Amino acid sequence: MKKRILLLAGGQSGEHEVSLMSARSVLAALPVDQFDVTPVVISKEGRWLPPTQTQHALESGVADSGGDLVLHRAASAEGYDAVFPILHGPMGEDGTVQGLLTLAGIPFVGSGVLGSAVSMDKVMTKQVLASAGIAQVAWRLAVRRDWHDRPDTVRQSAQELGFPLFVKPANLGSSVGISKVHGSDELDNALTLAFSLDRRVILEAMTAHKPREVEVGILGNDAPIASPVGELRFSAEFYDYETKYTEGRATMHIPAPLPAEVAAQVREQALRAFRALDCAGLARVDFFYVEETGEVLLNEVNTMPGFTTTSMYPKLFEAAGLSYSDLVARLVELALERR
Ligand code: ADP
Ligand code: MG
Ligand code: MG
Repeated sequence: MKKRILLLAGGQSGEHEVSLMSARSVLAALPVDQFDVTPVVISKEGRWLPPTQTQHALESGVADSGGDLVLHRAASAEGYDAVFPILHGPMGEDGTVQGLLTLAGIPFVGSGVLGSAVSMDKVMTKQVLASAGIAQVAWRLAVRRDWHDRPDTVRQSAQELGFPLFVKPANLGSSVGISKVHGSDELDNALTLAFSLDRRVILEAMTAHKPREVEVGILGNDAPIASPVGELRFSAEFYDYETKYTEGRATMHIPAPLPAEVAAQVREQALRAFRALDCAGLARVDFFYVEETGEVLLNEVNTMPGFTTTSMYPKLFEAAGLSYSDLVARLVELALERR
């Protein structure tokens, strides 16, 4: 069976010409009995050229303007100014859709590829935030291959952190696949569940006391502002899927009843995290506040937080005097500002 390859070449970078040369080499070098290669040249303007223009561009080494940018037509011919990708989790909040929209040259609400991808990944987030000097819980990374081949090394990581601990797929949200593990007898099930959802899993220590969960909204691009701090209260052992999505299981408190210096610290750390992760537009930054010790630990950054009229993020800005529709208008402005 021949391998079918779509070869994208050219592109909008300064290495456009180099890419065309590479593409010509690939086309010339791959044996036609083994590979069926279809080249598509992307012009310097970002237009994807149809076959005849692609052929011409490859032969001449120059991609004339022209062609058709399918993505761009789809989204902008109708006169849209911006896209608001209210998508949560993988394939939406993780840089994939953001990459597509960037290629298409369409302004969109929220973080770009980098901020989205790094913030979606709980391990990458922890690493970046640690280098920005932001306090977090102790954690370990585990990969699926090790869980299959050398499970004792993974169990050892858990022992080092101590129980109870949390086991989470690295790239998910809505508490899907997350377990609170009370002792070693519960560990294997938790890891099996998390690894069924992701190649990479994070193990996290828990603070000695059940922490309070406080959240802050960030709005802006390079000069972001922080909302008041909100708090979630619930009786479940942790903020699991049912508690998040069953009416009445959790209550929102805005502003969170916190000592002023704690609220200030939360807001300052949230802004610092937003910048360190190269976020844009909006993010909801979630923290644990350990009342007994006064510790503030950053838990995660959500680059496309829940956005119903009753969700925490819009409510936090409503408390700051920005109505839901003003907030959406502001987000569109911020999307256009980033062009
Ligand atoms: P998601 O992205 O799915 O919301 P989180 O990391 O926010 O995942 O975890 C979901 C919930 O699990 C948190 O809101 C909290 O209740 C609990 N939780 C997660 N990690 C910890 C931890 N290290 N210590 C205490 N509680 C935790
Ligand atoms: Mg999340
Ligand atoms: Mg969360």
